[in-house]
Amino acid sequence: MNTELPDWRKAPGEVGSSISSVDTPALIIDLDAFEFNLTSVHDRVQTTGARVRSHAKAHKSVDIAKRQIAAGAIGVCCQKASEAQVFVEAGIHDVMISNEIFGKSKADRVAKLARYAKISICVDAVEQIDQIAAAAQSNQTSIAVLVELDVGQGRCGVKTPEEALRLARSVASYSPHLSLAGIQAYGGSAQHFRLAEQRRAAVTASIEKVKTTIALLQGDGLKVSTVAGGGTGTYELEASSGIYTEIQTGSYVLMDADYARNTLANDSPTLRHALFGLCTVISVSEKQAVLDGGLKAFATDSGHPTMVLPGWSVKSISDEHTVIVAEADVEPLQIGDKVRLIPGHCDPTVNLHNWLIAVRGQIIEETWPVSARGALF
Ligand code: PLP
Ligand code: MN
Repeated sequence: MNTELPDWRKAPGEVGSSISSVDTPALIIDLDAFEFNLTSVHDRVQTTGARVRSHAKAHKSVDIAKRQIAAGAIGVCCQKASEAQVFVEAGIHDVMISNEIFGKSKADRVAKLARYAKISICVDAVEQIDQIAAAAQSNQTSIAVLVELDVGQGRCGVKTPEEALRLARSVASYSPHLSLAGIQAYGGSAQHFRLAEQRRAAVTASIEKVKTTIALLQGDGLKVSTVAGGGTGTYELEASSGIYTEIQTGSYVLMDADYARNTLANDSPTLRHALFGLCTVISVSEKQAVLDGGLKAFATDSGHPTMVLPGWSVKSISDEHTVIVAEADVEPLQIGDKVRLIPGHCDPTVNLHNWLIAVRGQIIEETWPVSARGALF
């Protein structure tokens, strides 16, 4: 490599420098908001007796995971075996893959990870159980297993308590290489129901289904010590249920424009936007400005990112550009101005970047790699 050329791979900002020096498009974490969210959610959950197991898929950052554990999380959730590996390699000793996997190489990776950390995983079919058991057996390790119950998302998870029992028996039959930890019952779609009453109704129904399933398993002599679920939209409901033991919130520390559209119950803390895209104005015209980040800097599955600067809104977004427009009597932006946007959806936005720039006010306090970026396997 030509060493005279500046290294674009390094963090786009230097610790101690002003946020105005950050190369763009970049992701900024407002540490005051991040810490507020971390403490608010952990405090709420911990007063109920349930424990937080933060979902690391939201941020894919070892630095953030360590802060979550320092703030009381028992470990992290991941969605992929390779993602779990990143966190185990970083020294996190309790990792749950809150998802189903299938494939010999994946099962083997999970089984090997169990040499270094407590590993748990979800299943909803005997094919997965057989494969994970075989990998654990050949690697001489032990993996904790949760049977996933579909509580309304219509994604993974067995549909009935009877199916859950059948799988739980299968898991138990592979002792000591598999151990039955319990049930995962994550209501994904309920997270984004806009009204607090809608979310409450959905979680109430989930709790009923989980209770029936627990009773069936216990009646068969199986022990259910863990019930896992909950996300940023519903965490207080699962935590206070007396049934859920682990709450796997992910977005809560970062937040996004989509989650901000949820209406909260009166006594719920309003979480703050901690994640921002920072862009530079590269072209201006009448009542319009063009930013240097587009679809490769912001995921748009939950809509366009939203502008923080009052009077400005996003008009369109393409590969490398976002076009923003001003209301009638707003001061024009100049070429070189930097503006903040709130991503529509935090998880896939973070996955587009290599770095998170953590700022306190206007000063860069830390730079965090997106450690598990690309860990898709
Ligand atoms: N658990 C599972 C299985 C998930 O798929 C997700 C997110 O989609 C979460 C927990 C965390 O949800 P959130 O980021 O909404 O807090
Ligand atoms: Mn998400």
